[in-house]
Amino acid sequence: MLSKKIAAVNKSRCAACGACVKVCPRAALSVFRGCYARVDEAMCVGCGRCAGVCPAGCISVKEGSLV
Ligand code: SF4
Ligand code: SF4
Repeated sequence: MLSKKIAAVNKSRCAACGACVKVCPRAALSVFRGCYARVDEAMCVGCGRCAGVCPAGCISVKEGSLV
């Protein structure tokens, strides 16, 4: 099975600040209904920029499956 790195947001810790949305080079992040950030897994390239700027430390980059 193919795999690639994908960002994952811990929704319960996300402050919906939008910092991750601004730095994503692929526009893969959006703040859903002002509550938490969501990742479009098809767009994410696993670069980790979002995880680097998140003040809550709630983004991790993990191996994800690519179907
Ligand atoms: S890992 Fe990179 S491409 Fe994926 S959501 Fe974060 S900033 Fe965007
Ligand atoms: S930078 Fe972190 S706290 Fe801010 S919206 Fe993104 S995931 Fe949530």
